[in-house]
Amino acid sequence: MPPLPRLRFAPSPTGSLHLGGLRTALFNHLLARKWGGKWLLRIEDTDQTRLVEGSVDEIRRGLEWAGLHYDEGPVIGGSYGPYYQSKRLDMYHSHADDLLKKDHAYRCFCEPPQLAATRLRLQQSGSMAGYDRTCKRLEPADVKHLLGLNKPHCIRLSLLQTPDTPPPAFEDLVFGTPTPHPVPVDPIIVKTDGFPTYHLANVVDDHAMEITHVLRGEEWLPSVPLHLTLYASFGWEPPQFAHLPLLLNPDGSKMSKRTGVGAFVSEYIERGWEPEAVLNWLAIAGWGGKRDPHAPPDPDVTPSYLSVTELIQKFDLDNFTNRRTVLSPTKVANLNKQHMQVKLLNVDERHKIAERMLPTLKNMYPER
Ligand code: GLU
Repeated sequence: MPPLPRLRFAPSPTGSLHLGGLRTALFNHLLARKWGGKWLLRIEDTDQTRLVEGSVDEIRRGLEWAGLHYDEGPVIGGSYGPYYQSKRLDMYHSHADDLLKKDHAYRCFCEPPQLAATRLRLQQSGSMAGYDRTCKRLEPADVKHLLGLNKPHCIRLSLLQTPDTPPPAFEDLVFGTPTPHPVPVDPIIVKTDGFPTYHLANVVDDHAMEITHVLRGEEWLPSVPLHLTLYASFGWEPPQFAHLPLLLNPDGSKMSKRTGVGAFVSEYIERGWEPEAVLNWLAIAGWGGKRDPHAPPDPDVTPSYLSVTELIQKFDLDNFTNRRTVLSPTKVANLNKQHMQVKLLNVDERHKIAERMLPTLKNMYPER
């Protein structure tokens, strides 16, 4: 029997929850529920320089508001925890040690000026490699000596392939078979500060947490060949990948984390939007994209109003486009109206809406 699907939403706590993040969480939720599997929330907080205080609370608040209840994660726990990467450092170190023992990794003592000079030299000679493997050639006695001197160092993955070997090809559930990006020579997996890089921590955790499907933003598509190289070095089976195309502002610009009107989930919470309308909006952006472009519109494939239960039933990655999609503000307004109309027919929902609106109304009409 195939393993129970296990999915994950793995945000970095670098700011408030973005609509793109909410969409990734939503798709994990929809597929986990549809397939009878589980999804977890994992906080990827190993890049200490980018941490923003309060982001984990913001992410949890956004998911809670949207009703996206994960099966495992911070606070609620689970049998694959801890769910903060900063609490899993021992695991990354022990896996990096395994790679060192198997000669699939080595310690690199090169200092920044030396690395910059190497990069420049390689570039000038027309090489795409960013590093010349100086430290791979160190004798064990030299390594021991340098370690004895407490010389700062990082750990690099020793690529199985030569620089001329094509990067590993792969099948993505949304993008098909994209041209794989080259894997850098030899990528750092543990930084000088002792923290793992995103790539090592991500692969170790997806394996340890028995993740079967990785759904994440398109920006990570170029990292897949490196991740596959890591899986191969460990001798592990990789999960299936599905990358979700970027969301665009109506003017075609990227709805990046820092710009764009209405790019943050908190704005929708504060403005009193119906969470189901926002989820509906995010889910159908890009839906129906793989249909034959000459076929007449098919309302079943490109739906509009859908409840979360219907989204779970109908959502299918096979019908999802790999093209970047514009999020139209008019559409969310229409959907909000439709969701409100349906909810107002139900007494309990009516009370909930009234309660949610009260603070906003009090703010608007303080004298009443
Ligand atoms: N931590 C990454 C981010 O916040 C997610 C990477 C992944 O899902 O693999 O974008």
